[in-house]
Amino acid sequence: MSANYQHARSYLDRLLRDHSLEELRQRLAPSFDNPSPKVPGGCRPNMENLQQRWQLLRVSPGSRESLADSETLAQLERYRNHIENFIGSVKLPVGLAGPVRVNGLFAHGDYYIPLASTEAALVASYHRGAQLISEAGGCTAMLLNEGVNRAPGFSFRNLRQVGLFVAWSLSEVETFQRVADATTRHGKLVDMSVVVEGNHVYLMFEFTTGDAAGQNMVTIATEAICAHIKANSPVRPEYSFIEANLSGDKKASAQSFLKVRGRKVSAEVILPPDLVEKRLRTTVRQVADYWRMGAVGSVLSGAIGAQGHYANGLAALYIACGQDVACVAESATGVTRFELTAKGDLYAAVTLPNLMVGTVGGGTTLPSQSACLEIMDLAGPGKANALAEVCAALCLAGELSITGAICAQEFARAHQCLARGNRPRSEAGESIRGCRRKRAESNEGHSDSESAI
Ligand code: NAP
Repeated sequence: MSANYQHARSYLDRLLRDHSLEELRQRLAPSFDNPSPKVPGGCRPNMENLQQRWQLLRVSPGSRESLADSETLAQLERYRNHIENFIGSVKLPVGLAGPVRVNGLFAHGDYYIPLASTEAALVASYHRGAQLISEAGGCTAMLLNEGVNRAPGFSFRNLRQVGLFVAWSLSEVETFQRVADATTRHGKLVDMSVVVEGNHVYLMFEFTTGDAAGQNMVTIATEAICAHIKANSPVRPEYSFIEANLSGDKKASAQSFLKVRGRKVSAEVILPPDLVEKRLRTTVRQVADYWRMGAVGSVLSGAIGAQGHYANGLAALYIACGQDVACVAESATGVTRFELTAKGDLYAAVTLPNLMVGTVGGGTTLPSQSACLEIMDLAGPGKANALAEVCAALCLAGELSITGAICAQEFARAHQCLARGNRPRSEAGESIRGCRRKRAESNEGHSDSESAI
């Protein structure tokens, strides 16, 4: 978190150009003058509250209509239990990538994947990777593990009390399971680990969560267990917290990476050299060279795992399909591996141990989000494992496509073409005409339109 002194000095110089240090100090002080009106609260979306909130905002009728449009207002009830202080909904462009053929334990068939994003070139890139995988007969995808943690923390006076508490907790696991069972039909407490640090104890509860991502489910179950502990433990903690930040909720952590958080999935595909050359315009050897260098680059950067851009595809799919997008923080960790096989093919694999996805609960029932799940036939009970395998297939597609673009020196050009429109000839050698042609092909829906990315 350090800043080089020259950067720090020039930043300060810029700030002091218009203001004295005293003015800046006053600007940063707490201020209680003329408080703005509070947002009229309310968990239940209704027209009355919504109108009151809009009266606070000084925006044009057009801006209001963009958020509080007639379709959103007609479906107010569907947003209940999903948002507080509701004022409308944000529209995001959704593009379709695929089909990607997935030969999975749970996902089986060709999937057209809806992706919500404002990053030009993103959908095109995943689309290209998906088609490449399908042309190779599809990827094999395997759900390997599942489990969602909650980790309450307990503080005691000393280690002797810690010992007594841990001994009692270990004898109570079956009771904890019964207590958890009483709070949910689909959640199951399947494991408990103990972490002792000085006079602190963290109990790491691991649950399976059915077809839900499960964050609420495990929180409610853990709260019941904590209440049981409070009422029955032979040693009373000095203080305790329902979550002591050990679970890895909404952050990438080495611990979740090494075990599981949500669902762990591997997906792999073997690509013959001619397909790599035709679709990625590079060679298997170059892809393998890039992967080695990129994997070392990841290590040097201190990243958890080694992968290119899982976050791009996952964030777009999570937004489209009503997943908790903040969980991309932990979900977008894993390992990508590209290798030259003895036969000269490309072996490509991704492993993601922290996919926090569900097909029931959370935002999965919201109007456009449930429609996106329906596109993949992955809405509702019995589909969460398949959704996790599709996520891994999507990430594999994205890793192949971005690697191909970098190896073929098309990475900058693709973004220049698709994000900036027609531009003068770039250093990579793309002409205005080439850019126009690719955009026109895209518009006509040619299957090769994405091949520049
Ligand atoms: P949820 O919508 O709170 O709970 C899932 C509901 O679906 C439960 O009532 C469950 O019933 C029911 N259900 C019906 N059929 C099911 C099936 N086949 N499998 C699983 N459940 C089924 O969702 P959640 O997944 O527990 O929590 C996700 C939400 O929590 C997201 O909106 C996320 O943003 C939010 N979140 C919460 C926290 C937190 O700490 N509380 C943290 C991060 C995110 P039963 O329980 O009776 O099985």
